[in-house]
Amino acid sequence: MRLICEICGEMIGEISLEGTASIPASPGDVNGKPAIEALRRPIKGSMVGSPDPFHGFPAPFDPSVTWEFMFCPYSNHTHRPFTATEEPKQLLTHKGMIDIPEREPILSEDEAQEAVTKPVEDAESPIRILRSLARQSRTQERERRAIHIAKRRKSDVK
Ligand SMILES: [Zn+2]
Repeated sequence: MRLICEICGEMIGEISLEGTASIPASPGDVNGKPAIEALRRPIKGSMVGSPDPFHGFPAPFDPSVTWEFMFCPYSNHTHRPFTATEEPKQLLTHKGMIDIPEREPILSEDEAQEAVTKPVEDAESPIRILRSLARQSRTQERERRAIHIAKRRKSDVK
């Protein structure tokens, strides 16, 4: 998608919800294409790529800058490409305004460990299916034994 400046309407750069891989420059072609990081809040310079990588046009922002320092490259630092006065939640693109997705929360080491070791309660989970099969076969085994014992007792009585 192309990021459009809300103030001057210029096409500033390329943004991508999924992100793009880098394409190294090939021999005889000076234009490599650096990766574009997937668009997420809070936005960063590395999420906006060159508006014209084919002609070697540079990316509009330093990869490390945050929204406060993202000035429209056509504005000589007089405006940002969005009208939001705090961290923007939407950006103008050639497809209209789009929501910037939230970044997935980064888990702490403990939370990550818990997520890995916690028993899976998902109904589709193969572990759950195996566990419930094991439970069923244990129950059947107990029933078989109970019937067997009951039959033996009956025959003892006779
Ligand atoms: Zn502008």
